[in-house]
Amino acid sequence: MAKISIDLKAGKVKKESDVIIGIDLGTTNSLVAYIKEGKPLAVKGENQKNTLVPSIIHFDENNKIIVGDTAKEKLISNPENTIYSVKRLMGKSFNDVLDFKDHFGYEVIDEDEEKLVKVKVGNRFYTPIELSAEILKELKNRVEKELEATVSKAVITVPAYFNDTQRQATRDAGKLAGLDVLRIVNEPTAASLAYGVGLANDLDETVVVYDLGGGTFDVSILEIREGIFEVLSTHGDTFLGGDDFDRAIMEYWLKDININEKDNTSKQALRLLAEEAKKRLSSNEEFEGEINGISLSLDRNTLDQIISPIVEKTIDACRKAVTDAELEIKDIDKVILVGGSTRTLLVKEKVAEFFGKPVFDELDPDEVVALGAAVQADVLAGKQKDVLLLDVTPLSLGIETMGGLMDVIIPRNNKIPARAGRNYTTSIDGQTNLKVSVFQGERDLVKDNRKLGEFILKGIPPMPAGIPKIAIHFVIDADGILKVKAEEERSGVQTEVEIRSQYGVSEEEMAIMLLESLKNAESDMKARGLLEAKIEAKNILLSADKFMKSNKEILSPEEMKQTQLLTIQLRASVEGNDKDLINECMHQLNTYTNPLAHRAMDLNISKAMKGKKI
Ligand code: AMP
Repeated sequence: MAKISIDLKAGKVKKESDVIIGIDLGTTNSLVAYIKEGKPLAVKGENQKNTLVPSIIHFDENNKIIVGDTAKEKLISNPENTIYSVKRLMGKSFNDVLDFKDHFGYEVIDEDEEKLVKVKVGNRFYTPIELSAEILKELKNRVEKELEATVSKAVITVPAYFNDTQRQATRDAGKLAGLDVLRIVNEPTAASLAYGVGLANDLDETVVVYDLGGGTFDVSILEIREGIFEVLSTHGDTFLGGDDFDRAIMEYWLKDININEKDNTSKQALRLLAEEAKKRLSSNEEFEGEINGISLSLDRNTLDQIISPIVEKTIDACRKAVTDAELEIKDIDKVILVGGSTRTLLVKEKVAEFFGKPVFDELDPDEVVALGAAVQADVLAGKQKDVLLLDVTPLSLGIETMGGLMDVIIPRNNKIPARAGRNYTTSIDGQTNLKVSVFQGERDLVKDNRKLGEFILKGIPPMPAGIPKIAIHFVIDADGILKVKAEEERSGVQTEVEIRSQYGVSEEEMAIMLLESLKNAESDMKARGLLEAKIEAKNILLSADKFMKSNKEILSPEEMKQTQLLTIQLRASVEGNDKDLINECMHQLNTYTNPLAHRAMDLNISKAMKGKKI
């Protein structure tokens, strides 16, 4: 059922495929798969080589974006302009990433520590969503080349522990890449589906998915009842993986050979050799190699000894996951291996030994998740007759936030019944009323969506802006009726309304709304980015003004003047429409005032301590 569309820009006639693609958007590598002749298949790149696309984005001198293998080559030669591990930043605030900030070779920024982070490349600021969208575009291109047709629908996987914000960020990245994200699926669920586990509705099973990649480790326990997956527990370590094996091998070798700490080229070469040795020993008993004319060797036994403490850590996590799920090992029916590092023989052995049963490892562990995403896509396309399709929300539901932005609370295609909530606060000192406007649709600005209703939460006790805790809850029952409740949690004041969300939109209208959201994704995201930057800047200007007022005596005349100058610049930038300029001005103001704020805080504390007996 391929439609024909005309690409006006290129003047070419392009087929539109009705294939729904499955995407594994990974920390280190990403893949795309689809169902070909009834079987899931991961798509290879040019010259039919590799199915893995390194999740790396490089900005060249002309700000042209390169993704994948070519970008990976720039990691060492041009780290500031080469972004990796962007998945670790998805939906995160600066506070969330503080602990591993040094892990990134590029600049991670945020002015307000609670707001979502940005990445600075040259003089431009990018959100993790925009960066992930580049990886998704690359995958979309790859599959379109293979199919010789355009695709626009996708299923994307995320770790089971991803929260709402991280899932929404992944959806937004898909939209920005021109993909209608039909569903966000948990990676362990996808891995099970790849093995056909959970496809037969009459089989109840408990499954462990053990996922050891290059730099991350997760274990999840899933319960499958009548085709519905529930995550019972997850455990893991976001900084544990095959890279640690490589490091352990390097350290072992470094006992015998000497490499100058500062000699990065040799260190890099040694690291690559360690990885090569590790991989070789997944199918051989011995490895021999050389570096700078010195020969190095490793055998299976030694490797096992070296990496055993790391593998043991993962087994401990498995033990915890089983306990958390309130299960015993005998309750586990199947164990599935995911991630390149599960090729390591000791890993397979230890996992099988711990769970007391053979592991599922026939599929390529790098591809399993993408293959499963393709299976899920096929189910959604209605092509797998035996699988029950659940009722879902046809369009996203959310509320209007500052600046007329749409904040999605229950995303499109969420199964119903469903419930979700989010916390908000006031923006004005002493605010006693809050208007809650409920919208349906996929666009970033509420003015482009459909308004379902609005109500006012009255009687909030007067408090400074930002202090009230207002929880907004959405509940959709099995008939699609939406109840929206707003509650100020400090005082208990609440209001609730009922909305019949599904009604009044025809299939055609829905299709048009979706199409519009994809067509306008880029401009919508730009508008959102600009609005958000303006709101953030206004908040920062407020605090800067307060700061100058209350610390007059502490600041030197020059410091005062410079702070004023920077606020004037920021204020001027907010009047314009250049997002990067606003971000840059915020960054400059903050970089300048941060040390001053620390000094003021120290002085104020010591003042408060004086005269007090401790
Ligand atoms: P992933 O993040 O899932 O792509 O996993 C990549 C990790 O798998 C890296 O640490 C690789 O060194 C590791 N890996 C790839 N092939 C093998 C192999 N044959 N044996 C052991 N580890 C491997």
